[in-house]
Amino acid sequence: MNDCIFCKIVAGQLPSKQVFENDELLVFHDIHPAAPVHLLIIPKVHIASLVECKAQHEGLLGRMLLLAPRLAREHGLNDGFRTSINTGRGGGQEVFHLHIHVFGGGKMPHLI
Ligand code: 5GP
Repeated sequence: MNDCIFCKIVAGQLPSKQVFENDELLVFHDIHPAAPVHLLIIPKVHIASLVECKAQHEGLLGRMLLLAPRLAREHGLNDGFRTSINTGRGGGQEVFHLHIHVFGGGKMPHLI
């Protein structure tokens, strides 16, 4: 997607503080961290949101989620961390390229 910020990060056209990369996923620090550690796990392929995910993305979604505890451990979040996926404008999504937030390092407020 030409006008997608995260696609531009994948393409190396925008800078980011990357912490993990493989053939299908990229992880980088959120530019406006909501916690001492705040990472974004994204697929390299453009998928706008969770709503656009199909059965073919089952494996990809599983691998994205399974990366979270590894990243948390590597970033010292030994006491726990939060993951979130904002979906659609009503769900607070601002960047329409699928991503999982992984954040922690402070006392996280109880939300639900
Ligand atoms: P959303 O609200 O869509 O779930 O979250 C998008 C996140 O992307 C926000 O936390 C925002 O700070 C982050 N973000 C937006 N633009 C950029 C950028 O250019 N670089 C990085 N690293 N993060 C960004």
